[in-house]
Amino acid sequence: MSDGSLLDDALVRLDEAARHLNVDPDVVEKLKYARETTKVRLMIRMDDGSRKSFLAWRCRYDDTRGPTKGGIRYHPDAHVEEVETLAFWMTFKCAVMNLPYGGGKGAVRVDPRQLSKAELERLSRAYMQAFARTVGPDRDIPAPDVYTNSMIMGWMADEYAQIVGQAVPAVITGKPIALGGSLGRGDATARGGYYLVRHLADDLKLGKVMRVAVQGFGNAGQYVAQLLAGDGHRIVAVSDSQGAVYAGNGLNVEALLAAKARGKSVMATVGQHGHEALDPDKIVGVQCELLVPAALENMIHAENAKSVRAKLILELANGPVTPEADEILAKADVVVLPDILANAGGVTVSYFEWVQNRQGYYWTEQEIHGRLQSIMEREGRTIWELSRQRGIPMRTGAYVHALGRLAEAIEAHGTQSFFTS
Ligand code: NAD
Repeated sequence: MSDGSLLDDALVRLDEAARHLNVDPDVVEKLKYARETTKVRLMIRMDDGSRKSFLAWRCRYDDTRGPTKGGIRYHPDAHVEEVETLAFWMTFKCAVMNLPYGGGKGAVRVDPRQLSKAELERLSRAYMQAFARTVGPDRDIPAPDVYTNSMIMGWMADEYAQIVGQAVPAVITGKPIALGGSLGRGDATARGGYYLVRHLADDLKLGKVMRVAVQGFGNAGQYVAQLLAGDGHRIVAVSDSQGAVYAGNGLNVEALLAAKARGKSVMATVGQHGHEALDPDKIVGVQCELLVPAALENMIHAENAKSVRAKLILELANGPVTPEADEILAKADVVVLPDILANAGGVTVSYFEWVQNRQGYYWTEQEIHGRLQSIMEREGRTIWELSRQRGIPMRTGAYVHALGRLAEAIEAHGTQSFFTS
């Protein structure tokens, strides 16, 4: 693990980018701190009649480029520093993609698997009640993240409508289609990363058939495995919180998806289709061309980075590689497609959802895919060229690219601005 805290590690990237750009030190100072973070205790009635309280946060990190945008995570280890770090990354991610948003994030410290569906609904409604004055279609727009989904977003949108007395679908994205959700949101994060890899395949000298390892087999991990397998690539290893499976000739992706759909771990497929159990700590070092971290932060660190065999890492998770690991990987010529670019497909289609809600006119799935592809390719190409020209890693290139846009907006607001104070 990295010695620094999660937020300190994130700020290392900011300082690095600032060294490559001639930005006003005031810009860097402003971006070092969250604008506002609110902590509340949500008290809900459990099914057995008892009452239980849960800690919850919402952070609006920076709104210089527009309303803050970012998911809500339900996790037993959620803490304020993680929320602020994730909100910092959202600020840069939205700037990388040139979306008219700042960065935000929310979380509840809870293991949602321990709650019944009715308890989960009460908790989600309580979250929206607590933050009804923080969120808003021009202020702060939440979305799903780890262990939250469209059903939860639907409950929250409904609660907001009850509070303000009218439907405001643009207050939250990742909603069910029936409540104004967008087509193409489900697989958007994975699809964005997949378009990026495909677009840079020749530049990266990738083969026609790659061996792929996917760490984390949830929303992002499952869809990316499906998309890559659809192009003939071999998914040789996948893991989830219960364990990992391996098959040198390629795992049966359909069987893995079926196990997850039944609420089982990928481990349920061991012994079938040639799947063998693998030590989950070993997945990072599996012999493959493409490694896709799609679980949580800090999974590739100083201790295991040397074991990486892949030549390319696609960061679908947020913050999966620590700064120390980055240095080790760069020395080994492993290219890292950084989170703020690689997984930005999710927030981009969230943006499409918000646009469609506001105009009341909905696009086809084909239109969504086309628009997503063109933005991923445009920003991916710009960062690729910038990195080549300056001889810097893609991550630094992405931060330089985003910081340039943020600095321009901060300066445009003026020194006396409420937004830049
Ligand atoms: P998810 O809850 O659907 O899936 C998370 C997966 O990770 C699950 O399969 C879980 O079992 C697995 N996991 C948990 N701990 C693990 C461990 N120690 N080792 C291996 N696997 C482990 O979440 P998701 O939406 O797919 O998000 C995954 C990552 O992608 C997160 O970092 C999230 O912030 C990021 N992300 C997601 C989206 C999105 O639209 N879903 C967008 C941007 C970034």
